[in-house]
Amino acid sequence: ESVMEKVLQKRSLRMRNMQRSWQESPEGKMMLGFRKSLPAFKEKEGLLQSIVRNQVIVVSGETGCGKTTQLPQYVLESFIESGRGAFCNIICTQPRRISAMAVAERVSAERGEPLGETVGFKVRLEGMKGKNTHLLFCTSGILLRRLLSDRNLDGVTHVFVDEIHERGMNEDFLLIVLKDLLQRRRDLRLILMSATLNAELFSNYFGGAPTFHIPGFTYPVRAHFLEDVLEMTGYKLTPFNQIDDYGQEKLWKTQRQLAPRKKKNQITALVEDALCKSSFESYSSRTCDSLASWSPDCMGFNLIEAVLCHICRKERPGAVLVFMTGWEDISCLRDQFKAHPLLGDPNRVLLLTCHGSMATSEQRLIFEKPPPNVRKVVLATNMAEASITINDVVFVIDCGKAKETTYDALNNTPCLLPSWISQASARQRRGRAGRVQPGECYHLYPNCVYEAFSEYQLPELLRTPLNSLCLQIKSLQVESIGEFLSAALQAPEPRTVQNAIGFLKMIGALDEKENLSNLGKLLSMLPVDPKLGKMLVMGAIFRCFDPILTIVAGLSVRDPFLLPQDKKDLAGTAKSRFSAKDYSDHMALVRAYEGWKDAEREGSAYEYCWRNFLSAQTLQAIHSLRKQFSFILKEAGVVDSDASINNKLSHNQSMVRAVICSGLFPGIASVVHRETSMSFKTRDDGQVLLYANSVNERYQTISYPWLVFGEKVKVNAVFIRDSTGVSDSILILFGGALINGVQAGHLKMLDGYIDFFMDPSLADCYMKLKQELDKLVQK
Ligand code: ADP
Ligand code: MG
Repeated sequence: ESVMEKVLQKRSLRMRNMQRSWQESPEGKMMLGFRKSLPAFKEKEGLLQSIVRNQVIVVSGETGCGKTTQLPQYVLESFIESGRGAFCNIICTQPRRISAMAVAERVSAERGEPLGETVGFKVRLEGMKGKNTHLLFCTSGILLRRLLSDRNLDGVTHVFVDEIHERGMNEDFLLIVLKDLLQRRRDLRLILMSATLNAELFSNYFGGAPTFHIPGFTYPVRAHFLEDVLEMTGYKLTPFNQIDDYGQEKLWKTQRQLAPRKKKNQITALVEDALCKSSFESYSSRTCDSLASWSPDCMGFNLIEAVLCHICRKERPGAVLVFMTGWEDISCLRDQFKAHPLLGDPNRVLLLTCHGSMATSEQRLIFEKPPPNVRKVVLATNMAEASITINDVVFVIDCGKAKETTYDALNNTPCLLPSWISQASARQRRGRAGRVQPGECYHLYPNCVYEAFSEYQLPELLRTPLNSLCLQIKSLQVESIGEFLSAALQAPEPRTVQNAIGFLKMIGALDEKENLSNLGKLLSMLPVDPKLGKMLVMGAIFRCFDPILTIVAGLSVRDPFLLPQDKKDLAGTAKSRFSAKDYSDHMALVRAYEGWKDAEREGSAYEYCWRNFLSAQTLQAIHSLRKQFSFILKEAGVVDSDASINNKLSHNQSMVRAVICSGLFPGIASVVHRETSMSFKTRDDGQVLLYANSVNERYQTISYPWLVFGEKVKVNAVFIRDSTGVSDSILILFGGALINGVQAGHLKMLDGYIDFFMDPSLADCYMKLKQELDKLVQK
């Protein structure tokens, strides 16, 4: 012990010397000067004392006041200064990988060190940390994963959980686990950080933990709502007249989040009115065929253009931050602006984007000063709301929506819908304009819509399926999932929990008594949705590992096939070249990936991606994920070290199809052929449409009775994304029942499908199968 102690003491001294010499250097002094100007600095001593005295504290403060970059750094510095630097181990979680990376980079720059020395980061697939790292920024998911194997967080002295006001699922989950851990680790310190002021909620959760508020200074921001914006940009909002019931109903359906019902008529009428205005017509016809579209976004699009032009022509200098609904909208708008006489002119406008999947190089650009007389315009998702601060923003344009996953527990369907943000988010967005001088915020919705927003957003835990979460909970050796989750800040509905448990039983991750099976243990180690994890295992068992590895990696990142708005057709044609009439988007993905590997070997990867409308960045991510998955499965002994054994059947198309089916069931749609057309139906939704980019969208007929799919999205209609054609026999053999062991649940589920589709040939097959299975059960 004393040897270890000595080593650490020596290292601590070295750390102190390095810190002091940096702080005394000219650059160090300058950096320190900047840091001292942040509002958090005034609270430094009080905060440090409070952290020593209390096991848990809650800190809130205006975005940009220095919570994330300063607070963990204060703790680190004070340890180093007191000669105990090597004895502290600080973890600070971020909800998104991109902010974990950006913050770690910033903090190490503030300390004059390369990234990966004292300050490091770790996110899925990437990380920079070393044996000298004492302050680690990671995603909340990474910390949860660590807690699975290191239940006491041995050696960790401080945990900061950041952006808790967002109420992300992982954060809420972390808090349950940490609350329990604090009992066992009385020396551990927990610091919760939040941008908005709902500190009491968290304080109460931790038995009245002290709260700290960092008073920040921001300049006033003037709010303009739709009425003003329309006026300003030359559109007139006439008083709304009769809007037929159908119109209202349609709008209402896509805007469930618009809380108080009594306000419905007024609000929908106003928005609808704006939507119906003839000046918007040309836009709505274009945007309505894109998935992300029609509600206020249709008018949002050209309004954004109008407001941007207004700012560029008439307003004082300053960067513009545009909050948009999602990544699709952003890329679509960016492409559209390329040809714009003003917004597309690089001598006048520097157009940047900010979203979860942007490249690090692009990310750096958004913090930089633009050249003189060029206006910086950043198109962002709600990521720029709190976790990333762009200092020179003076104008904010807020579309009022964010893409949010919601979960329909009754139908057990996740939906990814654009929905209205909360009042807290809207205020937060507005506040981003007042960092350096008084700002302006243009909300592209009427004031009465804002009034109807819910106060805070519904916590993610209450609006997502809990399959993955429940599996993780089980691997923490928790007895009852329900009991565990009832300890959350806001517990999810029992029905949602039951659905998840039922699902995990169905795929065999849990046994009848809800204990983790061997398969369950394995799946909890794989950082993917348990359903996809299962597909991987099946791929290994049925000896077609390689293609399945690519498919699962692809399904768990993004689609590498790009779909630029103005070249939809070309992109579709390019993708269909990868489909050798096998009616499968998944196999097209496999071919595209393999082609990319070949092209890389020949040094023509760039051209290959360009020609085929593929994203090199996504392909690279797929490549890394493949490696990670196969490493885990090799360690676990699921795949053979001899690749030729794992891939004995990789060229057998039916086998690959069957394994895809086993992973994606119960995502199935029946193919309904009519004389001249073809349509698709699922049991729960009735008619569904194929996503524009699907290879199956291009065929006149599909020579399979079924399509299996991984994801459906409810917009104005239900769309299914990537799909693969399968035969009756594959569906029966791999659609849940046989492979998953004999369980009454599957049979019931299949029953439902048979009844629904009433396909006599299938029913026949099914009866035989059922008799076989019944015999087995009796044994
Ligand atoms: P908070 O977490 O309270 O929102 P941060 O600690 O993230 O605030 O940021 C504090 C300040 O540090 C910001 O206002 C900004 O001025 C500066 N800052 C943060 N990240 C960067 C960066 N990557 N580049 C330059 N300045 C940054
Ligand atoms: Mg922060």
